Amino acid sequence: MKPAPFRYVRPASVAEAISILAAEGYGAKALAGGQSLIPAMNFRLAQPAVLVDLEALNELRYIREAEGGLVIGAMTRQADVERNAAVSERAPLLAEAMPWIAHVQIRNRGTVGGSLAHADPAAELPAVMQALQAQLRVRGPAGERTVSADDFYLGLFTTALAPDELLTAIEIPALPERTGCAFEEVSRRHGDFALVGVCAVVTRDAGGACSRAAITLLSVGDGPVRAQKAEEALVGRPPTGDAIHDAAEAAATRDIDPPSDIHASAAYRRQLARVLTTRALTTAAGRAAGG
Ligand SMILES: Cc1cc2nc3c(=O)[nH]c(=O)nc-3n(C[C@H](O)[C@H](O)[C@H](O)COP(=O)(O)OP(=O)(O)OC[C@H]3O[C@@H](n4cnc5c(N)ncnc54)[C@H](O)[C@@H]3O)c2cc1C
Repeated sequence: MKPAPFRYVRPASVAEAISILAAEGYGAKALAGGQSLIPAMNFRLAQPAVLVDLEALNELRYIREAEGGLVIGAMTRQADVERNAAVSERAPLLAEAMPWIAHVQIRNRGTVGGSLAHADPAAELPAVMQALQAQLRVRGPAGERTVSADDFYLGLFTTALAPDELLTAIEIPALPERTGCAFEEVSRRHGDFALVGVCAVVTRDAGGACSRAAITLLSVGDGPVRAQKAEEALVGRPPTGDAIHDAAEAAATRDIDPPSDIHASAAYRRQLARVLTTRALTTAAGRAAGG
């Protein structure tokens, strides 16, 4: 298939891109790496009248260290995040999840902002950013606002972005002391979208108990799912055997309502959620203890 006819513009600045989006309204679409939008256009699932190419916006391409955390420009390539030493050191969950995204050729073109804005429920980055409690910077004609990754996802392929707004950057806060992270995923073949994925961030107090947990799942709902019941089952207890078992059970049975589709049944996805949550929490808790 070929895309429906469209007009192509290549703004030189974020301000120019936003004014074009504002003028064109729902007919316009931002183009980042094109790894999701172009296939959707080729299948005519998306038929924008105007394609606003963000390729020239180098001002959105950076990884900066900030107050123990990171700020990543929306147009930063996924491959550049994957290979960045500061990301490995300050956001190890993000570094661990990156190789699970598609294939290296796709990560060479695909951007962090594009993946977050696309809001595919099977994508790794939305769940990672929720687990890391990231804040997303969004700019539109009225100026800049910040939206938490928890509030950014509204439903299937739907975010809090207005048609005339761009995601410009992602702020990842510093991890507290005695925090460990882990990412687990099962897909049919390497590079395929996840059947289920789990992100775990566990913080332990001086006595070894879990003082804070962030657990998110992907490919089990309309968007990334924060497993709040699982988190409640863990906090205040030593993150070992029984507590991890209870958290994984809560994640699989109470936090998620996974779909059945041609790739996997809902029951299979629940079982994967149970197993992968157990693995992710065990690894994260071990890392939090310095293991
Ligand atoms: C074969 C294949 C396998 C894949 N497997 C995976 C996988 O396993 N996991 C995974 O997560 N992804 C996967 N992807 C998708 C890939 O990660 C894409 O790169 C990503 O989803 C979109 O990023 P992009 O930069 O290419 O965005 P684009 O395709 O250019 O844009 C995607 C959407 O986001 C909007 N957008 C982009 N940037 C902005 C911005 N700054 N502000 C506002 N809106 C914006 C666009 O308007 C569009 O609606 C796969 C893709 C392919 C082709």
